[in-house]
Amino acid sequence: MSSQTHTATETLRTLHRIHRQLTDLNGRLRRGPQLIQAHQRNLDRCKNELAEIQESAKKARVASDAKQTLLRGGEEKVKKLQDQLNTAGSNREYQALKEQIAGVEMANSVLADEILESLERLDEFAQKIADAEAQLEKSEVQRDLNQKGIDELRPTIEADITRLEAELAEVEKALPDDFTMIYRRIVNSRGEAALAPLHGEYCGGCNHKVPLNDINKLLMTEAKPLVCRACGRLLYVPEGWAQG
Ligand SMILES: [Zn+2]
Repeated sequence: MSSQTHTATETLRTLHRIHRQLTDLNGRLRRGPQLIQAHQRNLDRCKNELAEIQESAKKARVASDAKQTLLRGGEEKVKKLQDQLNTAGSNREYQALKEQIAGVEMANSVLADEILESLERLDEFAQKIADAEAQLEKSEVQRDLNQKGIDELRPTIEADITRLEAELAEVEKALPDDFTMIYRRIVNSRGEAALAPLHGEYCGGCNHKVPLNDINKLLMTEAKPLVCRACGRLLYVPEGWAQG
């Protein structure tokens, strides 16, 4: 290979490496906030679940309290009726009061059962609230840990990007002139996907077969820029390339 071919091929390899690294680093920078957003959504969901359980527990508590008040009223009524029983003027009145007492006692007994059930439900709610609170706390810890990790990594990633961008600008200067224009045009619109190594006889970007004629052009001493006819990437011969 002539020095020109050598320079162009070497330069394209290096440029593609830098572009890939930049894409990777920029992706990591982008994924950080996305990850935090996902954690935040999870956290919000936990908060909503806790609030819903607390609201249901509150309603259950109010209903339970109302039943207890009702039961106390019923018990007082029984007492009052029993007092009246002692002063009943007639047998008929006595019987009527007896029946009334039996009715109220029956209602009280139903209420007492319902109150027991409602107290059990309140216990269940207390457990659910404790679980939801623990889940919420766990979500908060996870979000904060991730945020911390991302915050700690960001300066390193940003410094790497700055360094690579400077390196990229430097290496781009080494491209032969006939490559520069076409490289610029494709890079501006496609970024990392502007370049593709030859994989055997195939474009490493789109797997389309590269005509033998084109491969030979790439391997010629005075290599000219060659784009894949299928995907438009600028092709280059990678290190250790073998045709088969
Ligand atoms: Zn291609």
